[in-house]
Amino acid sequence: MCQISNAYLNFPDCRVFIFLYSFPRYRRAMRILVIEDEPRMLELLRKGLYERDFTVMTAADGETGLEISSTHQFDSIVLDIGLPKLNGYGVICALRSRGLMAPVLMLTARDAEDDIIRGLEMGADDYLTKPFSFAELVARLQSITRRRRHEENSTIEAGDVVVDPIRHSVTRNNQSIDLTRNEFLLLVCLARRTGQCVARQTLMEFVWGPDHAVRPNTLDFLVNSLRAKIDTPYSRKLIGTVRGAGYVFRRLANAHGEAAR
Ligand code: CA
Repeated sequence: MCQISNAYLNFPDCRVFIFLYSFPRYRRAMRILVIEDEPRMLELLRKGLYERDFTVMTAADGETGLEISSTHQFDSIVLDIGLPKLNGYGVICALRSRGLMAPVLMLTARDAEDDIIRGLEMGADDYLTKPFSFAELVARLQSITRRRRHEENSTIEAGDVVVDPIRHSVTRNNQSIDLTRNEFLLLVCLARRTGQCVARQTLMEFVWGPDHAVRPNTLDFLVNSLRAKIDTPYSRKLIGTVRGAGYVFRRLANAHGEAAR
């Protein structure tokens, strides 16, 4: 027997619909959060995804969307960029800084390259420009969800360092290394981008959140404490400084320890 129930959550200034399905088919459906302020577009997305067997929650502003995504698990998030209270960039940034890695498909009102690049750099996984084909939306949602599941289950291997995000464990040369929460976040942020310069601001937002008030040299102290554990005991140094820009987790090019930079 198929049972469908609808419920309201009393989030301030926004009606949130939750559709809970008890029929087994729906338990297997992907859970999608749609954050969109334009009522007709929101309803179009909600109805279209529901008809394709997705479980859907909706929010009409950025703050509410962020709150829901912080308290529920989603397979992916459809996120409009132009939103009241907190725009889409702010939502992505806050999600990632809180360690919430649900893949994000952002919707942009115009094909503006700078807007798209900014969204992708802040952590969005893909984008669609309005108007879009619903079939393409569904295909992209399925694609980013598959990709994220693969990434989440995989460890990060960079040189002789292995980072396991699930077990929250780190080894170098098969020796276990104990890291604090912030050291671990910093290492994950760097190691996921091995060989790339990671901007100071990106690192600070990843570790302390978008509204952090930490002083710039706090990042340097944290890098030094991570280096003391991950680099000091070893001849090959992995964490490099890119003066005036950020830090890089070096790619070890060969067995003799030549680094990429
Ligand atoms: Ca909008």
